[in-house]
Amino acid sequence: MSDTDKPPLTKAPEMHVHYCEQKDCKEWGGWGNSPSPAVATRWWCFEHFPHKSNEQEQAYRRKLDAAEREKIIQ
Ligand SMILES: [Zn+2]
Repeated sequence: MSDTDKPPLTKAPEMHVHYCEQKDCKEWGGWGNSPSPAVATRWWCFEHFPHKSNEQEQAYRRKLDAAEREKIIQ
């Protein structure tokens, strides 16, 4: 075993580029979920993230409602 046995560090570090995995969704997948360390993490945008807590879901709905009302007013 010597230093020359090491593979050269030519590989760039893996970029964590992941968009929402929902079909046709072009949003950034900022919300990941993995059931265990052995399972690859899956990524979604907040809208499609299927593991939201109730509180998160309700906060999101309120935000959508507020945005809808704003559209109607304008
Ligand atoms: Zn999405």
